[in-house]
Amino acid sequence: MPSIPSNLRVSQISPLIIQSEIRSMSVECDRVGGINLAQGICDTDLPASVADQAIEAIRTGQNIYTRLDGIAPLRQAIAAKLLRHNKIKADPDSEILVTSGATGALYATSLALLNPGDEVILFEPFYGYHVSSMLSMRVKPVIVPLAPPDWQLNLHTLRQSVTSRTRAIILNTPSNPSGKVFSAAELQSIADLAIEHDLFVITDEIYEYFLFDGNRHISIATLPGMADRTITVSGLSKTFSITGWRVGYLTASAKWIPSIGYFHDLTYICSPAPLQCGSVAGLTQLSESFYESLSTEYQQKRDQLCRALTEAGLPPSVPAGAYYILADVSRLPGDTAHKKARNLLAATGVAAVAGTAFFADGRGENTLRFFFGKKPEALDRACEALKNLG
Ligand code: PMP
Repeated sequence: MPSIPSNLRVSQISPLIIQSEIRSMSVECDRVGGINLAQGICDTDLPASVADQAIEAIRTGQNIYTRLDGIAPLRQAIAAKLLRHNKIKADPDSEILVTSGATGALYATSLALLNPGDEVILFEPFYGYHVSSMLSMRVKPVIVPLAPPDWQLNLHTLRQSVTSRTRAIILNTPSNPSGKVFSAAELQSIADLAIEHDLFVITDEIYEYFLFDGNRHISIATLPGMADRTITVSGLSKTFSITGWRVGYLTASAKWIPSIGYFHDLTYICSPAPLQCGSVAGLTQLSESFYESLSTEYQQKRDQLCRALTEAGLPPSVPAGAYYILADVSRLPGDTAHKKARNLLAATGVAAVAGTAFFADGRGENTLRFFFGKKPEALDRACEALKNLG
């Protein structure tokens, strides 16, 4: 007898959104007691003033829902920071939304602005959440590969990927996982294309303070003609080492904020109230030297891990920003990146992520991603273990 299909089944899209390879590698790493360079969780300490103000807020009763766009002092602090650092002029009452991390910002933006069947352009190597978020909304991700080893943009390929269904370009600079920092000329070309084809640009700038070798951050929203069509997403997870707090934000034209805010309210209500208060302390009290020291500290960590990978015979693509390194692991045993990652864990106790998590069409099988935002002891141990790979 043919079986009758049951109504009790997952959605058609569910099987396409597979469990993140990053999480499964972390589970495997815990099982063998390894050093986790797979998941991008900073285990570095948060600034004391940020912690103190959050605790104070809990004690003094800041424990209820906030306004859907976030508490006023935080929106004001973000507006001041945007002006100072990004050269973006944003009205804290109508052009800023405090969100449940950059993740909540990107998700609510997509729900508010995109329709099922729309196409969105993303650059490869990509951040898996960006692609999966599009799939979950029945939006088609169109992948534009950047050319290794320095991930240059091929404008011709980008142009060719625009169709009549294209609605937006998702940008991530500095980028996870490649560390690419888009140059001023590349950003100008992307902006020109967005204007020519009347596209949104959704830009994830969460790593804006993690820049090496004198690179400077440029927000595409500041280029002529881009203010109305750009949604600039960022957050405090990485800058203050508070990934579990869920405090992020976006800035966009007041035209889009009510709709994006509505979808954010629907899915997250608000970013945790006392943690919004703690974040105000960080944004208003920490001096420029705090942000400068992030670049210095992480550049040293980058160099340390790049040296260890080179000595291990796993040539790194040296990142210009963010805190991940893509390395060529052709020499490791295993016919897939998945197997190579597990073999490396078995041989050295170091967990990294299979490159296939960041590439389409079977690319990335000879690549692993390593995270270097670790405390010095953990990074030292990982580097020693890698050098002994032999
Ligand atoms: N965007 C990128 C590019 C990331 O790498 C990450 C963290 N892995 C996030 C967003 C998540 O940021 P948040 O914690 O603010 O949601």
